Amino acid sequence: MVAQRIKGIPPSMTIKLTDRVRELKREGKDILSFTIGEPDFPTPPHIVEAAIQALREGKTKYASSQGVLELREAVAEEYQKKGLDFTAKNILITPAKFALFATLQSLVDPGEEVILQDPCWVSYEPMVLMAGGRVMRVELDPLEEFSFLPEKLKDSVNGRTRILLLNNPANPTGGVLRKEHLMMIRDLAVDHDFYVVADEIYEKLVYEGEHISIATLPGMEERTITVSGFSKSYSMTGWRIGWIAAPEGFIKDILRVQQHTLTCLPPFVQAGALAALKGPQEPLNEMREAFRKRRDIVVKRLNEIDGVSLRPPHGTFYAFFHFDYPISSMELSEMLIEKAGVALTPGSAFGKGGESFMRFSFATSEDKIERGIERMKRFLEETF
Ligand code: PMP
Ligand code: GLU
Repeated sequence: MVAQRIKGIPPSMTIKLTDRVRELKREGKDILSFTIGEPDFPTPPHIVEAAIQALREGKTKYASSQGVLELREAVAEEYQKKGLDFTAKNILITPAKFALFATLQSLVDPGEEVILQDPCWVSYEPMVLMAGGRVMRVELDPLEEFSFLPEKLKDSVNGRTRILLLNNPANPTGGVLRKEHLMMIRDLAVDHDFYVVADEIYEKLVYEGEHISIATLPGMEERTITVSGFSKSYSMTGWRIGWIAAPEGFIKDILRVQQHTLTCLPPFVQAGALAALKGPQEPLNEMREAFRKRRDIVVKRLNEIDGVSLRPPHGTFYAFFHFDYPISSMELSEMLIEKAGVALTPGSAFGKGGESFMRFSFATSEDKIERGIERMKRFLEETF
């Protein structure tokens, strides 16, 4: 019998859907998939070369559990540029997904509450539950970058609140929070003495405005654990590498979780990551510009479909569009796969607040985007 802790945890909808599409394609079905959030670009060659060279040099053994010193120094420099007084001691090298899991394991006691954006990425709630915590989802304002509705956020804070897990820029909404949105969270965190776990994995993928790390706001450096990584910005999803940046005390606690589980990240993977930070940044800028162009196409073309509306996402590579049809997002997702040959992630996979929305990942070619939206338009306008 499965343990109680795992019993109620659903499979990851983003991964499940992507696997299903793979299966349908193997059966010969013609499906255009916009499900998973994964850049279609190859990892830039200088990063690949650095990892190959490290393998050739014999960097194939255990590495430091906290992460190779040069890489931690390079990550710390990223935060020094933002005005934070971080050194290698403040950095832990670990995959972004595991970073979130390990942080929650190290901070949450049974029954303590973690505030989440609703909608939010599919894996946050399972991670909180696996840590024994309770989830408090808070409704967002689609007109204001999907920031928290201030009154709803205030009402959700109580004596059990331990953490607010903030994804900015956000998956699935594409929202990029402005300073005033972040200040409201800061004020509550300071007044009520809770921590912010800031998932900033999409920080480099911003098309309008600027990304502000919440740790840089007054009073936040000491109460913020920032998670970020290489997957999305350097097209390194399969490398499984990211980091945590936080005050040293948090890093020491989370490191114990890493020591007793992952041990360390492969040293040759860390060599590739070091080349990503220290090498030319043009590939990153080129990928971002390609995403911006795709975003503009998606916004224009989706808005041409009757019953669909989308405000331009200011960050990430997700278009979270609203639909006005008398069915659920899950039903629409099924219909689109079966009848139109287009796969999208239903908004409800991200929480109740995502109902009547669909997530379209535009981390894929312009041609595929054009063809996919054309299929959707034809099918949706015939059906509804
Ligand atoms: N946070 C968010 C919001 C994500 O969308 C993802 C998706 N992969 C992750 C964390 C995990 O990143 P990684 O694959 O680098 O572990
Ligand atoms: N984060 C990506 C997504 O939302 C990758 C899949 C996952 O890890 O959930 O599609």
